[in-house]
Amino acid sequence: MQQDILSRLAEIVGQDYVSDHTPDLYLYSRDPGAQKPRQTDYVVMPRTVDEVQRIVKLANQKKIPLTPMGGGLTLSALTVPVRGGIVLDMKRMDSIIEVNEASRYAAIEAGVTQASLGAYLEKHHPHLQHSTPESPPTATIVGNILIHGHGHLTPRYGVNSQMVNGMEVVLPTGEVCRLGSSSISPNWFTRDPLPDLMGLFLGWLGTTGIVTKLSMQLFPKPNYRDLLLFVADSTDLIPEIILELSEINLLENCFIITQEKPRWAQRIYYIIVISGQSQAEFDTKRNLHNQIFQTHQDKMWQVDEDPALTPLRERFLGVPPFAATAADFRKGGGFEYTGAILPIEVIPQAWQKGIEIAHKYNFFYQLGIQLLPNGHSVMLAFSYAFNRAIPEEADRARGALDDTNRLTLELGGVVWKPELPAQKLILERMDPGTRKLIHKVKKMLDPNGIMNPGNWEVS
Ligand SMILES: Cc1cc2nc3c(=O)[nH]c(=O)nc-3n(C[C@H](O)[C@H](O)[C@H](O)COP(=O)(O)OP(=O)(O)OC[C@H]3O[C@@H](n4cnc5c(N)ncnc54)[C@H](O)[C@@H]3O)c2cc1C
Repeated sequence: MQQDILSRLAEIVGQDYVSDHTPDLYLYSRDPGAQKPRQTDYVVMPRTVDEVQRIVKLANQKKIPLTPMGGGLTLSALTVPVRGGIVLDMKRMDSIIEVNEASRYAAIEAGVTQASLGAYLEKHHPHLQHSTPESPPTATIVGNILIHGHGHLTPRYGVNSQMVNGMEVVLPTGEVCRLGSSSISPNWFTRDPLPDLMGLFLGWLGTTGIVTKLSMQLFPKPNYRDLLLFVADSTDLIPEIILELSEINLLENCFIITQEKPRWAQRIYYIIVISGQSQAEFDTKRNLHNQIFQTHQDKMWQVDEDPALTPLRERFLGVPPFAATAADFRKGGGFEYTGAILPIEVIPQAWQKGIEIAHKYNFFYQLGIQLLPNGHSVMLAFSYAFNRAIPEEADRARGALDDTNRLTLELGGVVWKPELPAQKLILERMDPGTRKLIHKVKKMLDPNGIMNPGNWEVS
């Protein structure tokens, strides 16, 4: 059977783009996070939609699991198959199909990375930008959007999945369909006002179909951009400041961070990115934001001009901002985080408990808030750096993740991009009616259960 599947896949994509060799599969059996490796039997790299369809039909015929993969960088092992089978690596589908300047969107294939779209825009449409996550440059636009990822424009314009105008999807049975305006027009410019089928694929962790094309909104690149830096010692102020920021609703991005090492970083840093097309717009925004912080002068300080913080300023002003370069990596390179999507009012409690969990598992704490659209909620990242060459450290990272996921749910939050154990915790707590609906939708779209079975699994 193994040889038969391999040669059938080779007939579809060509000999060079399929493998069952152990060294190749090694890479597809793990990701950079703390989850344990799992078995992958084949990897295949299609170039066309027709090839994707033929692979899906083969997987149905042979009842073999199929796991779609972009950059494989969620850290939650979401592209590592749970029950073996084929990893469908989309990286060769890397064309930028169209950038529309007037309606401001980019239509792309599924393998287009954050870096390649960024570089393309810089060269051909320098006054446009997309909302760029902090993830490594090889992360794909589609993979990020399908997990409801966030970028540097999220507080102002929305979570990246809210920016989708349309998609082309190969369904788990092999049919292909288009969603949004592209279903009736050559223009990929809007998601409304048709029945919104995008939700059948966003947040499903690749279990309901294979996205082959996607259109996303672009935004004007500002002429003026800078950041304001404030520091405080108490977490109690955080909800109040977020409310005040949302009342004026003029910022581009906002992070609130702390970490245990170096010692000066133990305070609570507010990093406010402001931007504008004109000097007047920019100055107004800067003044309005400064005023917010001036009203709390007794509890916080402006540290924009502190030369010790210059490297921090540069990292946060970059696109992508901050990024892995700022993390306290241990030798061996492992890094994990729970992305907790939290209501504003529980932040002080979550912050305190996060520090306790890090210490319980013998990690230095590292906490970072990214504001979500209009400050209605936040993503609080509880990060754990570990050396992947030391199994005991990876065990501790998994223990800390588990505690943090439980804390998130106890505080009424939602775990973002959940790894398998976190998915189970979420499903246990989920309204039974919702679980049943998930089951029905998956059964309807994927009658043979081939799409990454084991993920979002409801029996
Ligand atoms: C240092 C670091 C910083 C990060 N910072 C951020 C951040 O700021 N914001 C953020 O949002 N994320 C961040 N992440 C998390 C993650 O890297 C990103 O969200 C990344 O964009 C995911 O894209 P990917 O291509 O790696 O997706 P993948 O891991 O390849 O895929 C994600 C999910 O989508 C499915 N999938 C992928 N492609 C397809 C397809 N074509 N059709 C159907 N299903 C598919 C996969 O099966 C999987 O379930 C960070 C990660 C790291 C390591």
